[in-house]
Amino acid sequence: TEKVFGIYGASGFGREVMPIAQEYIHKEGIETGKLFFIDDNLTERFINGVKVVSYDEFINLPDKEKFVSLAIADRYIRRELLSKIEKDNVHPWDLCYHNVVKLCDVSIDAGSLLCPFVTLTSNIKVGKQFHANIYSYVGHDCIIGDFVTFAPSVKCNGNVVIKDNVYIGTGAIIKQGKPGRPIIIGEGAVVGMGAVVTKNVPAGVTVIGNPAKPLSRRNIK
Ligand code: UDP
Repeated sequence: TEKVFGIYGASGFGREVMPIAQEYIHKEGIETGKLFFIDDNLTERFINGVKVVSYDEFINLPDKEKFVSLAIADRYIRRELLSKIEKDNVHPWDLCYHNVVKLCDVSIDAGSLLCPFVTLTSNIKVGKQFHANIYSYVGHDCIIGDFVTFAPSVKCNGNVVIKDNVYIGTGAIIKQGKPGRPIIIGEGAVVGMGAVVTKNVPAGVTVIGNPAKPLSRRNIK
């Protein structure tokens, strides 16, 4: 059976991810014509030399085995798209650039996307559809849920628990927790860019600043 590969999302992030996909395709000796951008809202037929198709066009390609990386930073869109592709028996595609560092006992569920210069150290467990954008790191003994997004240069120190659907903005720093007493970022929380998280973040809350505090009307000028 023939295999075909897609990067879902041909906007900014998708275009950064495509070279990571191309690296894999070349390494495996797969024809470049088996790799597509998938985007439902574009009229351009080629981006950076790669053909763009809609999801329906991709699904109707004759190739039996289909692999898709969801290269869209919004974690809720990713969650929707994952249920859609699973219904069509499309495999989530793990992508990991060659210079990513994983030290010891790192387990990551399906559909992860590890960008250039990402580092995961030791004893780390990560759920499905994790995005680690350029220069992010995850320290020792962290547990990360499903559909978590790290923007560029997120510094997540050791003994941190991040629940499902959390978004961490560019350059945020999460203080290390203690063994048995981790720092916990609650489900669906958002950590603003550059925030310095020194204590637990409740579920669904957005925190900003140093030290990070919940975003409230008073914080908005
Ligand atoms: N998109 C899509 N189908 C969907 C949702 C999103 O094709 O159901 C595409 C959308 O058209 C856009 C891309 O995904 O081109 C998302 O781009 P955006 O700039 O919002 O996110 P980023 O690239 O920053 O992750």
